[in-house]
This record gives sequence, structure tokens and C-alpha cells, in this order.
Amino acid sequence: MKRKRKIKKKFIIFSIIGLIVIIGIVILAVFLLNKNSFSVKLVKDLDIEINTEVKVSSLIDNIDNGELVDDITIDTSKLGKKDVKIKIDVDGKEEDYSFKVNIVDTIAPELTFNEEVYTSVGNDIDLVDNVTVSDNSKEEIEVTVLGDYDVNTIGEYELSYVAKDSSGNETKKEFTLVVEDNVERTSKGYVIENRDGVTYIDGLLVVNKTYSLPSWYGDGLTSETQSAFNEMEADASALGLNIYISSGYRSYSTQDTIYNNYVAVDGQAEADTYSARAGYSEHQTGLAFDLNSIDDSFTYTDEGKWVNANCYKYGFIIRYPKGKDDITGYMHESWHLRYVGEELATKLYNDGDWITLEEYFGITSKYQ
Ligand SMILES: [Zn+2]
Repeated sequence: MKRKRKIKKKFIIFSIIGLIVIIGIVILAVFLLNKNSFSVKLVKDLDIEINTEVKVSSLIDNIDNGELVDDITIDTSKLGKKDVKIKIDVDGKEEDYSFKVNIVDTIAPELTFNEEVYTSVGNDIDLVDNVTVSDNSKEEIEVTVLGDYDVNTIGEYELSYVAKDSSGNETKKEFTLVVEDNVERTSKGYVIENRDGVTYIDGLLVVNKTYSLPSWYGDGLTSETQSAFNEMEADASALGLNIYISSGYRSYSTQDTIYNNYVAVDGQAEADTYSARAGYSEHQTGLAFDLNSIDDSFTYTDEGKWVNANCYKYGFIIRYPKGKDDITGYMHESWHLRYVGEELATKLYNDGDWITLEEYFGITSKYQ
């Protein structure tokens, strides 16, 4: 009996001490919580696409009893889990807070390539040269070619490019390899034909500083060019505008005389910026002419403005547009029109932002 009572007494004492300790902890906890009682609620989706700009505020749904100190930008350059450390202002005191995000890559590589690749039969070709790959992960990504082809057999081969990033996102795109007889093509794939020394690109006669005409070529404006001009002239006239051809067809020998006269006055380098050498003038094609004053003043006349905005409807292009000197090899000539037909002229007009024949076909204009 005595022993039992002793045990009971001890038990009560311990219980009381235990209770005091628990109450103490609770009081301390309440005290601490009251002091720093902020809570952060994050958004549900903490997966972030690699290499995107993400501000930490966009991941926070709400902060109770506190404010974000710095809206830092998260480093998203590496895949995988990442600790984000932020500071929360709680009644003027900065508290640390951290959470995890997951940097992921869900976007497949992008491929840029020509859908048709041409090669002459027997010519080895590196098809991977035709494609450039980029990926949001900024990794080096290898491109492989899928499908069978034989560069020694003329034909069309349907192939695919395949690229995969380290997260397993894959892009597969089809292209055609054309193995053909020896055909010359421009950098944009248009066929270049040379018939008796005259160059046709995609069937269109082209003359510039790279492609010349033989001395015998030409005998006046072509009938198509003349009738297209007549139609344009009539429509302009109905609007009270007066346009006329000041210089139309010019033979090889006429051009030779003109060019040499300019060289005598200005020197060859200067003359080459505004006058063509014999054989290199569009005036010899019978498809080109100069209008009215043949100088820059034409640009600012009502006639010049109307011609610039409307000539494409009749099949004409401004052959040497403004700002394209390095491409065409000539300074801007608002007065020099070239007949190419309505379809191509409309494409080159490009809503007023003229594209040159050189850009369209992918050719140069440079004396050899
Ligand atoms: Zn001209």
C-alpha cells in the first residue's frame, strides 16, 4: 500500500511537470507565430518552361500578413528542380521563405529548311547543310535524315529531318530531294537557263550586272511591253497625268556610246552606279524604258507617285527601288520600268515595299 501511494505521487508530479512544459511550448509557439505569422500560397503549377523569363510574383497566389520584398527573376536556364529563395516583409522585418520549382522543356526543336533540295546526279550532297535547328533549351541538337535516296539515280525522294532534344521532344519534318540532270539553279532554287547567250530565270529574261545579253540581241520594244505601256498611259491620261517614254529600246552599240560618254565625264566607278555597260542594259531587252524626266525629280511628281503605286497592275516593276543599290547594283531610278507581267509584278510590288528581281530569284548583280 505504501509503495503504491508513492508511485501514484510520483506520477502526479511528473504529469504536472509535463503539463507545464507543454503549456510553455504552446505559449512560446503562439508567441512566435504571432510575431512572424505570414503564410505564402503558391500557384498550383510550379513547372516552368526552360529559358523563359519568370518573375517570382507570378508563382505566388497570395501572401497573408506579409509582402514580397523583391520580385526577382528566376534563373530558368537549367532543367530540373530548383530552390527559389525569397524574402517576405512582415511588419518591417524581412523573413526568409523558399519553395521548389521544376524547370521543364516541353517544346520541340524548330527546323528551318528548304522543302525541296536539288542536286545534280552523281553529286554528293550533305542534306544536313540544308537545315538549321534551334531549341528553347539552347542545347546542341543533332539532326538526322530519315529515308533512302540515291544521288546516282535521277528521281524525287521523300525524306524527313528528325531532331530530338534531351527532354524527348521530337520534331519530324518532310522534305523532297530532287536528283536531276545537270541543271543550274539560283540560291532560291529557280532554274537558270542560257539560250544563245541570253539568260532566263524561271522562264523570265533577266539582265543585270551578272547576266548580260549578246550584242546581236534586241530590235525595239516588245509588243507586250508597248501595249502594256499604252494601257497604262491611257489610264494615267484619264486622271490628268502625262506619262511618256523618254528612252525605250537601246541597241548594244547605242548603249556602248552612252556608257563610254559617262565614263569619260565621271570615271568608270561612278558611271557604273547609274549606267550599264554595253550588253548589260535592260534597255537592250525591249522590255524596259525610262519615263518623263529620267531623273530623281520624277519621283516627286504626281506622275511619278502614280506610276510607283500603279505600274504593277500593267505588269511593270520599278526595277531599281530605293535602298536596294547594293542588291540591284544601281541607285534608285523611279523612272525606269521593266515589264515582267502582271502576276510577278504584283508579287514584287509587295504592297508598295518593292522586292527586286535579285531578291526574288536569289541572284547577284555584279560585274565579273
Ligand atoms: Zn533606264
